[in-house]
Amino acid sequence: MHIGKYEFNEFMEVVRSFHGSPAPGIIIGGIMVDMARDALPPETIFDAVVETPKCLPDAVQLLTPCTVGNGWLKIVNLGRYALTLYDKYTGEGIRVFIDPRKLANWDEIQGWILKLKPKKDQDFDRLISQIKTAGREFLTARPIQVNLEQLTRKRMSDINVCPICNEPYPSDDGAACRGCHGDSPYVVEGGDLT
Ligand SMILES: [Zn+2]
Repeated sequence: MHIGKYEFNEFMEVVRSFHGSPAPGIIIGGIMVDMARDALPPETIFDAVVETPKCLPDAVQLLTPCTVGNGWLKIVNLGRYALTLYDKYTGEGIRVFIDPRKLANWDEIQGWILKLKPKKDQDFDRLISQIKTAGREFLTARPIQVNLEQLTRKRMSDINVCPICNEPYPSDDGAACRGCHGDSPYVVEGGDLT
């Protein structure tokens, strides 16, 4: 079985080096990317949406030109393990999701996605082996129309320099940047090192 241009085990290694571990979610995500891609006309120039920030973005970034950084991959956190590849000009696409109706034969995958067992009780090798055997059998693909306006809405804000931290920020955020509004995760910031 191939995932993208990789042999299954080779993709496991690619995931390990990129993600830090051969996460089952990314392996499944890779199968989902292939399934969506195969259902699109081959010449389609596509963008991607993932419905969870966990693992799935990495599968898309490893196997397609779409990244969070270039804006061709959007994370819309709906809490579902699903992704969509769609024609960036028409919004017509294919959504692939893990289908609970098809999980009966794959108890280890079912246990993983439904979190039926604590992580320490999961059998990793058995899970990977089921994913490899199942391929696309526990996934469903459907045609979908994406709301392009909602996804591509760009902020065309002016840039101000924040009067508190003196760094540039979008003026839409108000009189000071969001960091200085209390959204910052930092508790202590030292002086300039250089
Ligand atoms: Zn500031």
